[in-house]
Amino acid sequence: MHLWPCCFGGPATHPLPVLRRRAQRCLRGIFGAAALAAVCLTSAPAAFPVTAVGMPPKRPPTDAAVVWFRKCLRLHDNAALVEAVEVAPQHVCPVFVIDPHFAPGSVGVNRFAFLLESLRDLDCQLRKRYGSRLLVLRGKPETVFGSLLQTGEPVLKGKPRLLMWERDTEPYARKRDAAVEKLAEENGVEVRTFAGHTLYDPEEAIKANKGKVPNAMPAMVALAKLLGDPPMPLKTPAKLPSLPVGVPARVDKAFSVPSLEEMGYDPPPEKSSFPGGESAGLLRLSEKLKDSAYICGFQKPKTRSTAFNPPSTTGLSPYLKFGCVSARHFFYGLKNVYARKKHSQPPESLLGQLYFREIAYLQGFSVPNFERQAGNPACKPIPWGKNPKLLAAWEQGRTGFPFIDAAMRQLTRVGWLHHLARHAVACFLCRGDLWLSWEQGRDVFDKYLLDADWSINTMNWLALSGAAPWSPPFFRVYNPAPKMDSALNVQDPEGNYIREFVPELSKMPKEYIYTPWTAPLEVQKAAKCIIGKDYPRPVVDHAKVSAENIARFKRALSETKATGAKGSSGASSRSAKRPRKA
Ligand SMILES: Cc1cc2nc3c(=O)[nH]c(=O)nc-3n(C[C@H](O)[C@H](O)[C@H](O)COP(=O)(O)OP(=O)(O)OC[C@H]3O[C@@H](n4cnc5c(N)ncnc54)[C@H](O)[C@@H]3O)c2cc1C
Repeated sequence: MHLWPCCFGGPATHPLPVLRRRAQRCLRGIFGAAALAAVCLTSAPAAFPVTAVGMPPKRPPTDAAVVWFRKCLRLHDNAALVEAVEVAPQHVCPVFVIDPHFAPGSVGVNRFAFLLESLRDLDCQLRKRYGSRLLVLRGKPETVFGSLLQTGEPVLKGKPRLLMWERDTEPYARKRDAAVEKLAEENGVEVRTFAGHTLYDPEEAIKANKGKVPNAMPAMVALAKLLGDPPMPLKTPAKLPSLPVGVPARVDKAFSVPSLEEMGYDPPPEKSSFPGGESAGLLRLSEKLKDSAYICGFQKPKTRSTAFNPPSTTGLSPYLKFGCVSARHFFYGLKNVYARKKHSQPPESLLGQLYFREIAYLQGFSVPNFERQAGNPACKPIPWGKNPKLLAAWEQGRTGFPFIDAAMRQLTRVGWLHHLARHAVACFLCRGDLWLSWEQGRDVFDKYLLDADWSINTMNWLALSGAAPWSPPFFRVYNPAPKMDSALNVQDPEGNYIREFVPELSKMPKEYIYTPWTAPLEVQKAAKCIIGKDYPRPVVDHAKVSAENIARFKRALSETKATGAKGSSGASSRSAKRPRKA
């Protein structure tokens, strides 16, 4: 990897070994020892000669197309890959860049493990089908491409002819891609980009809708009617031009998919029931599609929030998030099953769920400051409080409400939870009980969810906070100790979900499993769980705080109406200070 000039900026006035030692110190600080080892393998003089002024020598271009995988970790319905084949360069280089922006502090171990599994699967498919491989580079994409687009280093002997990728509408990605596009332009490398992460190209969809962005299902259904069915998914290419001769052998060790440990993670506590990758995602989808009664009868509000092994919904969200499964492939799979039978309709149907996803992307693409309250026209200004202790109790599943704690511990242990469990914990954090900002809750979800998705996560947190135009009425609050007939659709009178994720309560009789603080002391002793000692007392009195919060919310709305204020700058926002992650 060509990192020397970027580490030192100016001309090389020092002998090579001195420069190399300095570069190593700099790299170790930035990426850690493992990445340094990978970089050092290619920064040897033979692989990358440094000239007297520290700049790489000019080399003739290579007739190669670089396909940059980011999301879209798949071979099916991959427009960039198909185009790379059609353009018929001599060589195609499939590349993934491990960006230090996504690091242990901001991405939980389960999602990172899912990503690495997805990369391993992609690498394996590329080898098996085409005799190619995935080249995994590390570093800031702007730095990595600074070198690749100038000299071809570390994977080519000269700069490539073309660079291709699937577009990503998240703010961080848009900024990153604009920088890489600029580098390509400066180096005379042609860039071609494609829409493929959603059913419709967001830009074209909004244009066709005369600038209007749907924020509810009827508007989305109308837009889908206007646009017609999305483009058919593209077939997996039968052939792929090879890597340049010598590349696989030269880069084999340094550019393989790293292990979790190399990336600074301890292994996850248990084997995931969501193995990463296109193969696992397509298998999961095809299994679901085989069950036409399930597909045609799917009604989201009737799916059970406490079902976890297997879940009552498809569990496809992590695969859609990373693009291991194409949304269009999913759409046509549903259409095929629906064609033969009477079936449920949006918003409750599975097609309705894909349309919710589409709405989130259209909103995220067009609403300014979508990720925060301040300056966001889709967010009413609510003066949320600050309380790090309560936030930590919620994040760690120590609120004293077993259903809330089970869901939060499922989030941190597994990385996935049912939609209605997400409703319960999100309502509890904001308007229901703790009166804390949805931005803080969204950030916690963003760290731990396997399917953490900038657009979808934000749209749903806005909804549950009560502050968005698409929110349910703010005064309708979930009970954190839900009854069996509540809208949270718990359907678990034995409390098996709680027993799984909150083992302290595993022996609590079912009469008290949702409200253990009401159990007589003898019952607590027999269950080996004394409330206040082995498991916390409720951190709030739900009846009292929910009534207070409804009154506060009402007051905030009437003050906004009186002052005509739009958006707010009052909410604390981690995300306002740093760019969000994919
Ligand atoms: C507070 C909160 C935060 C959320 N954060 C995320 C997130 O970061 N990433 C994410 O993918 N989903 C998020 N959701 C939406 C939803 O809960 C998940 O998509 C769903 O539970 C995933 O399980 P599934 O794949 O079995 O869903 P299914 O019901 O099988 O739905 C199929 C697909 O449709 C899409 N979908 C379903 N529900 C929604 C929805 N409400 N909004 C947008 N798309 C939807 C997803 O891609 C999902 O995989 C959030 C919901 C809430 C209430």
